[in-house]
Amino acid sequence: MATNRTKVPRPLARQLLVEAGHRCAIPTCRATPLEIAHIVPWHRVQRHDFHNMIVLCPNCHTRFDRGDIDRQAMFRYKELLRLSDPNRVAPEDPSPRAGLIRAYRLFQNEMTRWHKSISDLVAAVVLSSTGFPIENLRRCRSAASVARAATDKLGELGDEGVAEAANHVFDWFRHWADDVFDLKPSVFSRSGDDYEEWKQERFMAFVVLHEEVCAALDLDPTELDFFEAERDGQELPQVSLGTRGLWETDE
Ligand SMILES: [Zn+2]
Repeated sequence: MATNRTKVPRPLARQLLVEAGHRCAIPTCRATPLEIAHIVPWHRVQRHDFHNMIVLCPNCHTRFDRGDIDRQAMFRYKELLRLSDPNRVAPEDPSPRAGLIRAYRLFQNEMTRWHKSISDLVAAVVLSSTGFPIENLRRCRSAASVARAATDKLGELGDEGVAEAANHVFDWFRHWADDVFDLKPSVFSRSGDDYEEWKQERFMAFVVLHEEVCAALDLDPTELDFFEAERDGQELPQVSLGTRGLWETDE
């Protein structure tokens, strides 16, 4: 299948070998001999890029190709090599890929914080007869402005699709917050079905964003942890939907 595959240039191969200390990059293996692997496969990227390549022994390479070691794990091993390099000269230009993933995580965390602040505000209003507790209101507004900044940052580092999808998530939360500030009765007395539909809408906004980010990274959606701000009042864990059939892959 990889018919037009070009040879890995010698300087690049050397750079990769030195990065891994001329040993398999899996820390618990470190075996030889060595092969050079593309993390996102050659047939998809069609180029040799240092940030997408890693040195493996034939055994680990086969396990990677078989899927025993997934791509996200392989990127972590690559990251470990970078962090453990004693000659590392400051965190010089980190790869755009790593920057986008960091911005995505930041966005998710800030959306979660904002989500929690709105939920807390709803709870506080329901419990008190005196209107909006000023402290909750302040937290909510500050979380919203940080979330706005995180949205812009993600849009800046991603492509147009990422920016649009991130704004869509942001808008969903803004409408929710506006409803709460306007004391729309629907916020407090949604029927079960309405509530499910409303949550589903938020969920789909996160799904679309996840797909856009993965497309920008040239990853399958299962290769990056999925994350969604969870329902009111509950903990907000990071979940992996990779095995839940939401995204079917044909690989
Ligand atoms: Zn190995």
